[in-house]
Amino acid sequence: MSETQQRLLKLNRMASPIKTKLAYDPVAHATWKEGESIPYLALAHTLRDIEQNSSRLKMIEILSNFLQSVIYLSPKELPTCIYLMLNQLGPAYQGLELGLGDSIIMKAICLATGRQESHIKSELKEKGDLGLIAETSRVNQTLLFKPKPLTVQVVFERLKGIAEMKGQSTQSKKVERVQSLIVACRECEARYIVRSLSGKLRIGLAEQSLLASVARAFVIVENYIRKDKNFSPESEKFKSELEAAAEAVKSAYNRLPNYDILCSVLLEKGIDGLEEGCQSMISVPLKPMLAQPSKGVEEVIKKFGEHKFTCEFKYDGERAQIHRSESGKSYIFSRNQEDTAGKYPDVLREIADYIKPETKSFILDCECVAWDVQEKRILPFQVLSTRKRKTVDDDEIKVKVCLFAFDLLHLNDKSLIKLPLQDRREILKRSFNETPGKFMFAQSRDVDQLEDIQEVLDEAVKNQCEGLMVKALDSTYEIAKRSQYWLKLKKDYLEGVGDTVDAVVIGAYYGKGKRTGNYGGFLLACYDDENEQFQTVCKLGTGFKDEDLEAHTNFLKEHMIEKPKSYYVYDDSLRPDVWFEAVQVWEIKCADLSLSPVHRAAVGVLESKKGISLRFPRYLRVRDDKKPEEATSSAQIVEMYNSQEMLQNNNTENRSD
Ligand code: ATP
Repeated sequence: MSETQQRLLKLNRMASPIKTKLAYDPVAHATWKEGESIPYLALAHTLRDIEQNSSRLKMIEILSNFLQSVIYLSPKELPTCIYLMLNQLGPAYQGLELGLGDSIIMKAICLATGRQESHIKSELKEKGDLGLIAETSRVNQTLLFKPKPLTVQVVFERLKGIAEMKGQSTQSKKVERVQSLIVACRECEARYIVRSLSGKLRIGLAEQSLLASVARAFVIVENYIRKDKNFSPESEKFKSELEAAAEAVKSAYNRLPNYDILCSVLLEKGIDGLEEGCQSMISVPLKPMLAQPSKGVEEVIKKFGEHKFTCEFKYDGERAQIHRSESGKSYIFSRNQEDTAGKYPDVLREIADYIKPETKSFILDCECVAWDVQEKRILPFQVLSTRKRKTVDDDEIKVKVCLFAFDLLHLNDKSLIKLPLQDRREILKRSFNETPGKFMFAQSRDVDQLEDIQEVLDEAVKNQCEGLMVKALDSTYEIAKRSQYWLKLKKDYLEGVGDTVDAVVIGAYYGKGKRTGNYGGFLLACYDDENEQFQTVCKLGTGFKDEDLEAHTNFLKEHMIEKPKSYYVYDDSLRPDVWFEAVQVWEIKCADLSLSPVHRAAVGVLESKKGISLRFPRYLRVRDDKKPEEATSSAQIVEMYNSQEMLQNNNTENRSD
């Protein structure tokens, strides 16, 4: 009996599990036995069933059924299953990724099936999915031994092995390894293995649904083993237990985005153990607290009400979360939890110079800004963006940077996130030394008068800042939340719509005239995180330089798909010439937002058949630091629309006074 079962059985000493009212029985319906390695086919069938379903609730149910069997029968393989479901080879922040080129995969399919490359190429043009091609091409290699059925563990190890092979000289080895995987595939396995290899699993499973499925699976297995005869998925008790569990799993993951740790805590201590077992940890980037946009000084005063607040300069650079362990190892992560050590080796080397002797380990939240060493002043973001992603040599570093620290989340083995900002700020200042032009504390002023905010804002703008971050002094650090206690007040907000919008490109229209040969217009969508859909928000054709269009065309061509995803929501009148996988986020400025009969952003929220669209959108730049699911959400679009309405009403009221 597994440790998990033993732990779960302590809840009730009765023997084997009983039938519940659930349609899925984690033991009877599993295709493998307790303690056995999980067949990859079981996972592939789950992926196939998810792919065939566009309803989020159904996806969660399908996935959680499979996970229940994993938890009950082969718990040690739980993290591996999760990584394969998400097409990851380990924690995302470790950055080990698969993305084999089509040519390697095609060669391997040829060798495994005896088909000609030219046939595969023309089929690829038609189907656009090497996974499906691999699945339907029959293996006709003469085999001395029939390969053993693939297991989840074997597939994971082999994928990892392939991802770790670097350099041109490994091409033929990669082909060989892919070929041997394909040869061993049964039924739909090749579809998912090939898609995993190319880095595009395309089943439409968002991480939030996966976390909800993990929570659901644990709640059910615990009840299953407890043999609660009244346990029913329809009961209110179950629903509220499920809701609380999903919340607990999601917030544990936000604090500590590492599935190996999350699973081991869940298996050892259950959902109730997450609060204590999954706290922030040096070397694991946590999801940052985010701010809400605000349109003006009056709105700030109104939103904060009784809360005392501080106005910090809002620096225009790149967010950096810097960790340092007691043993002296430093780490640096982007807003998106990517390891940016390669980009900022100088920062990592020098960080030790700024710490006080009693500061042993920490997690620091700061903005990394381009710095003019001669003039001793901040340089615009555009300068920072010219810094290379990977620098090895100090001579290569042309753009110097200065860190502006604004928060401290962890110090000497203690998490500080539950402390009010006022205390965290004090501890931050006590724990580090400022070094002008290298490491400074974000400039701030605690104010309560409207005029004072305006004054600090002017000062910030004069100092090459984007505006202000206004923060409630009594607020805790709300991991992964767009909090009402942090308001961003950008100089640009004061006119126009408030914030810029970060939208995902999902389609394009062929260019005409000067733009012939490139895409000339694009279809963009915001993300509805409730329903996990990309909903169109505007068509975009302005703001591009000629070279932008060419670069976008070349990049997006690689991500073309035959038909729109089931989770793209659009009106047929906007159907683009080509559809894309949701892979890139663009920052867009617009004049205002309006209700739209054709666009689908937040459709039905304000009016039953209408969505919201951006008017006069202009392209600003690519947001490499945001994943498609981190694009502006439909809920944010509604807020932006409402705050614009509120402002208009206020102006009308003022005029009628
Ligand atoms: P968001 O991060 O809110 O999704 P975004 O990535 O488009 O939006 P902005 O709208 O520019 O970024 O504002 C938030 C960012 O401002 C933070 O993520 C951080 O990188 C930066 N920033 C600069 N100064 C500060 C500060 N004093 N406090 C907090 N964040 C700051």
